[in-house]
Amino acid sequence: MPLNEVRVRFAPSPTGPLHMGGVRTALYNYLFAKKHKGTFIIRIEDTDQTRFVPGAQEYILDSLKWCGISPEEGPGIGGDYGPYIQSQRKSSYRDFANQLIENEKAYYAFDSSEDLDRMRAEAKKMGMPNWQYNGVSRMNMKNSLTLPTSEVNRLLEEGVPYVIRMKMPRNEEIRFEDAIRGWVVVNTNNLDDKVLFKSDGMPTYHLANIVDDHAMKISHVIRGEEWLPSAPLHVLLYDAFEWQRPTFAHLPLLLKPDGNGKLSKRDGDRLGFPVFPIDWTTKEGELYSGYREKGYLPEAFINMLAFLGWNPGTEKEIFSLEELVEAFSLERVSKAGAKFDPEKTKWFQQQYLRSTSDSHLAEIISESSEIDISREKLESICALMKERATFPKDIIEDGSYLMSAPNSYDEKMISKKWKSNTDEIMSDWKMILDQLESFDADTIESSFKQFLSSNELGFGAVLLPFRILVTGVGAGPGMFDIAAYLGKDEVLSRMNKGLNYIAEIKNEA
Ligand code: GLU
Repeated sequence: MPLNEVRVRFAPSPTGPLHMGGVRTALYNYLFAKKHKGTFIIRIEDTDQTRFVPGAQEYILDSLKWCGISPEEGPGIGGDYGPYIQSQRKSSYRDFANQLIENEKAYYAFDSSEDLDRMRAEAKKMGMPNWQYNGVSRMNMKNSLTLPTSEVNRLLEEGVPYVIRMKMPRNEEIRFEDAIRGWVVVNTNNLDDKVLFKSDGMPTYHLANIVDDHAMKISHVIRGEEWLPSAPLHVLLYDAFEWQRPTFAHLPLLLKPDGNGKLSKRDGDRLGFPVFPIDWTTKEGELYSGYREKGYLPEAFINMLAFLGWNPGTEKEIFSLEELVEAFSLERVSKAGAKFDPEKTKWFQQQYLRSTSDSHLAEIISESSEIDISREKLESICALMKERATFPKDIIEDGSYLMSAPNSYDEKMISKKWKSNTDEIMSDWKMILDQLESFDADTIESSFKQFLSSNELGFGAVLLPFRILVTGVGAGPGMFDIAAYLGKDEVLSRMNKGLNYIAEIKNEA
């Protein structure tokens, strides 16, 4: 069904680095917007000044940029509904809070934090550990519902600090249809009188969020499940202002690999995988590692994230961002928490590494490491190694023998595979290689096969020693490709060097 103008927003608070669950929320918003030819917006929700963390906003924007999820409107981009940072919209919220007071949907509360602490402590003593400021308890508190108007006016004139609270109606059913969860029904008796406007002159998240979603013409609110308990209040606020409600869609939680509980920011480095898109260092100097710095390709990261809570309903797993846009729908987002799977994440990375062009891989490698070989050679090394690598750095680490002759040899493998006649076989094979006129992989392979059959030798008995002499290790890409890449002189000199080395260890034994 075509939707009327779709406008969605990702609305992070700059209270720290963006967890990968946050990136997934941004991704689903982006996919939904693109799918419906709509607009994807970023809004920074920084009304809680006590939780503001310097650098967090830049981190969030850099992370999304690395992922290729780019907004049409947002901080630093502009748009018709800016500013897109809530602290810069401060002056727009007060009038709305006043409007709610006038319509008796909200009220002034003058209770000090000591008053609130006392009430909590008393309730606890009476066996009620979860005291709330709500439709019942508010009648025992210091607010514009309990104090005479003259007293309220006096307190306001004297500048006594106050907050503005939602006047939660008693015993009403709030109903809304969540695009993922279906009908949600909550009785207002279970909800408290949330603060909408704080004594510091700033709105709370709840008020600012609704006012801005309305002002920015947001059609769909797609956000994490942790906001589901706030949604009934948000719905009431829309109704109180007589604004049209957006469609809500609350995304499933991301769970630890064993399914026990939410994936938290500490899990990643503890369990050996990143939880953040890019590295983040706290002001105490603690590092939370990121996918980017670990060597993940953004396409692999995004593809993996898309599948955490959504599936296309087919067997296909590899999706470019464009293909995700095409396939995505909220109907296929699950309600159940999505278990994060580090192995599957690596698998996605391997698939993408393999399909990355040799020239692009060579570019990535030369940007991140100092290696002293030509671009052309590096590309050939990528072509040889990428099938077996997970990260770009594996290509040069595991394939170091493609850049220089090995300095050590897998001795375990040697003692297992070196038979009494292996030296002799290798010397004969060396002579054959020396006589080859062209040194391409096919020629080497066919003369190798001929060598085996004329000497009645088995494949493994000859190939493995050959590989060890040339590369030092027992496994790697096709040996004939390696030999062709290195060239005849290099192969022969390595074989000599390797045979000398083996003779030495045998003498020592
Ligand atoms: N500022 C909230 C957050 O940090 C946004 C929640 C919402 O999308 O409504 O996640």
